[in-house]
Amino acid sequence: MEGNKLKTIEPREIAIGKELFAFLEKKKSFTDLKNVFLQLSTFDQKLQTQLFKFVDVLPSLKHKDSVAKILSEYIDESKFKVGFLVDFVSHLPIVRDVFKTSIEQLVAFLARTFICGKNIEEAKQTIAKLKKKNQFYTLDILGEVVLTQKEADFYYNKYIDLLQNIQELNISVKLSALVPQINKNNFEEKKLVLKHRLANLFRIAKKNSATVNVDTEHYETKELFFAVTKEVLQDPEFNDFDNVGIVIQAYLKDSKKDFLTWLSWLKLHQKKITIRLVKGAYWDYEQAHALQKNWAVPVFEDKALTDLNYENLVDLALNNTEYFRPAFASHNIRSLAYILKVVEAKQISKNDFEIQMLYGMLDDLKDYFSQKGFCLRVYLPYGELLPGMSYLVRRLLENTANDSFLKQGFIDKKSKEELLQAPSIKKTNLQIKRGFQNSPEIDFSLEKNRNKFKNYLNTNLEKLNAERICALIVAGKMQESFESFFTINPAKHDQVLAKVFKANIEDCDLAIKEAKKVQKDWQDVDLKKKVMAFRETAQELERQRLFFNMLLVSEAGKAWQEADAEVCEAIDFLNYYADSALETFNTNKLRSLPGERNTNRYSALGLSLVISPWNFPLAIMLGMTSASLICGNAVIVKPSSQTPLVAYEALMILLNNISKYCGSKYKAVLSFLPGSGAVIGDYLINHKDIACIAFTGSNETGMHINEAAIKARPVKRFIAEMGGKNPIIVERTADLDEAIPGVIYSAFGYSGQKCSACSRVIIEEEIYEDFKTRLVEAIAEVKYGDPLNFEFYSGPVIDQNAFKNINLYIDLAKKYGDVIAEGINSNEKGFFIEPIIVENLAADAIVTQEEIFGPLLAIYKAKDLDDALKLANNTEYGLTAGLFSRSPEAIEYISNNIEAGNFYINRPCTGAIVSRQAFGGHKNSSIGLKAGGPNYLLNFVLEKTITENTMRRGFADD
Ligand code: NAD
Repeated sequence: MEGNKLKTIEPREIAIGKELFAFLEKKKSFTDLKNVFLQLSTFDQKLQTQLFKFVDVLPSLKHKDSVAKILSEYIDESKFKVGFLVDFVSHLPIVRDVFKTSIEQLVAFLARTFICGKNIEEAKQTIAKLKKKNQFYTLDILGEVVLTQKEADFYYNKYIDLLQNIQELNISVKLSALVPQINKNNFEEKKLVLKHRLANLFRIAKKNSATVNVDTEHYETKELFFAVTKEVLQDPEFNDFDNVGIVIQAYLKDSKKDFLTWLSWLKLHQKKITIRLVKGAYWDYEQAHALQKNWAVPVFEDKALTDLNYENLVDLALNNTEYFRPAFASHNIRSLAYILKVVEAKQISKNDFEIQMLYGMLDDLKDYFSQKGFCLRVYLPYGELLPGMSYLVRRLLENTANDSFLKQGFIDKKSKEELLQAPSIKKTNLQIKRGFQNSPEIDFSLEKNRNKFKNYLNTNLEKLNAERICALIVAGKMQESFESFFTINPAKHDQVLAKVFKANIEDCDLAIKEAKKVQKDWQDVDLKKKVMAFRETAQELERQRLFFNMLLVSEAGKAWQEADAEVCEAIDFLNYYADSALETFNTNKLRSLPGERNTNRYSALGLSLVISPWNFPLAIMLGMTSASLICGNAVIVKPSSQTPLVAYEALMILLNNISKYCGSKYKAVLSFLPGSGAVIGDYLINHKDIACIAFTGSNETGMHINEAAIKARPVKRFIAEMGGKNPIIVERTADLDEAIPGVIYSAFGYSGQKCSACSRVIIEEEIYEDFKTRLVEAIAEVKYGDPLNFEFYSGPVIDQNAFKNINLYIDLAKKYGDVIAEGINSNEKGFFIEPIIVENLAADAIVTQEEIFGPLLAIYKAKDLDDALKLANNTEYGLTAGLFSRSPEAIEYISNNIEAGNFYINRPCTGAIVSRQAFGGHKNSSIGLKAGGPNYLLNFVLEKTITENTMRRGFADD
């Protein structure tokens, strides 16, 4: 009896939730907003997304006729039949103006809905209105991505101004707006500035009885921002200042841990602050970013898990009101009802917590709370539409997302009972973990990872010295020779890393002779054994990850993240080509018919010579070597003289695994012969027993080898990845917040020494000056220095020759163009050239045409998109290219007509990833099939097609 009775009692939170709904229904709320979202949600998902993309680009469109045109580009004309309308509109100026005005009015309406004012005066009017209703506020300054010091100063001063001039202000501060270009490699440097600036804001707030909330933004900066806030608060100056708030995002899997860490910290320091509990606003970004990096996804994949976690955190927060003033930010009536239930059950005073809601969302519900005497605070964003666009688009997405509470309630018309149920977890399988897995980079945004590598360097760097040997490997055996040289650190040229022995002609002959003896047998070794040797090598590289990172930082002058990305790429090549061999050599893709059987057989070419460059001495060298080996060839590696050590260390691991899994006699399939290109290089490329040359390097060397390969009889197979003069086009609708950091990374990451690096930026006239001004200011933030120190964006150029060569081009750039940004240029300790940007060069200038391979960027003004395309294609190279644009038509047009093997849209043009961006160029940039893609192995085999007539006396056996 008792049990039955209990079952029928309605949980308290459901009863409260119904009361909230009843209040809203009485008020006949949501009319305006509901209508807009009703309209939006009748569109299908694709159209909605297209519309939001259009809303995003709208404020940056300078000409009236572009509005109709871009809208038509975003909308799938055939499906929605608006193409005709838009055409009509674009051709009649009067109609066009009306059309533009009404579109703009709609967007302005949406903006007014969610943004409380264009400026502080308008925001103050909203604050006054809220005050009349007994509602509180926290102000948020809308802003664009802060790229320059000027922009950071602007926001910082604005915060100061508000804190000084509005009594008892409550403001939410974005730390990312206080310093330019925060990214993980400058966390420690930026931390100092952030601490200084935040302390000053706290100081002014303390004086004026104001409150400062520090917003939590992306996952990547969470740890940094929490640390900054704690370290500032820890200062005795702020012992008696508690008007501070932080934010916990319940969609993060580690939010409970964050909460508990803050709790212990507050207990330890005897402080009490506000904790705003939100669900989190960047779910799509966090999920996509983690999946692209192959990192664990930091957010709950199931929305219900976030809701459930939110409720758990509500319990925790309300259990600890001694240390926290919880601020519950939500528009989900179930969550709000749950909060009220716990408050009621624990008899928490209304003074001990608050409810927060966003401006423009569920205003009537806000009244419910304020009328009942709860503290209701409204998050009030203000500012211009252009910088506020990302905020606006987030709100639009939130209101129309399928799992949004608002949409489910007011548009999908789910019943109140359904909406008020406890979050129920669906069995989801959102993890996209199919197929090939890229090796994940180390996440250096986490302090523990930075410290680990820092400590590793502190204890192991001394192992790189003149005593260290980089031997020859002749037919699998380590060997020293009479001639040697030292490999050095380009950032400190007096630092020797190892003694390198040089191969001579006899060594080449011996390597070839021994390799010939075993190559045929090697070809027949079970593929599975070779695959095991490769996979084990990949795992060993993973185990020795920090060692290889150290080598790349020291010998190739790479910044940590660049070094680590290269180790990942090397691991990926080994695993990918192993997979690819199993797939390619075990499947027959030819068609057979009754009575006719067609099969493909692949056999090795014989001996191949791998000639690798210094800029990817590990990944590219191992990529070419492993692809050739797994196809049954024997391989002689001739590394670049600037970076032999890292190649040697990796090949020793590969050699041991070949011996372990395939048999010790097969060590002879691998030789490593450092030495001069002109001496042993020329000897090897012309050697009659070398059947294949896989080369990555400059166009000049590549063409020289190509000639030798063609002249040889039988002709040699020649696979070459060569240089580029890679353009990025910045089209008039580009988002400069994305384009500027994208161009900086493409041109100046690893000091412009990637074959894919951007060396020319072509900007449409209309936005040329804006782009240029911001680029030049932003580049001042890019710091170069010894890459052993994590702080630096980039390190040195590779050697004295490169330093001299790049400087010759700089002289030409100065003579024939106008330099608009230039940094320090010195080879005193290491070979350092800081970014240099030049404009007004002719289309056929040497600096425009030749690959420079350093941090020299030329920018060009284009009359229109056709002109931009013409300039972009006007070189003999065709490796990579990029485009920043939000016009679907421009994207399509350039994609079709750009002459490049790899074309990147709205992202940097470097950083191809194995299995995802098969890499290789057009024109004079490449010969052969793309590296890291499904066809690459075919470069290294002979393909035999066998056709058999299977008919015997009139019957077919298959
Ligand atoms: P490089 O042409 O000077 O040297 C490349 C390799 O060729 C080195 O190992 C060198 O010792 C060897 N070599 C030089 N002369 C030789 C000869 N006569 N015979 C045999 N071998 C010889 O190039 P680099 O400076 O080491 O590398 C930078 C160049 O590589 C740039 O042009 C860059 O664009 C290109 N690169 C292209 C790709 C790509 O995938 N397309 C990737 C990395 C680098």
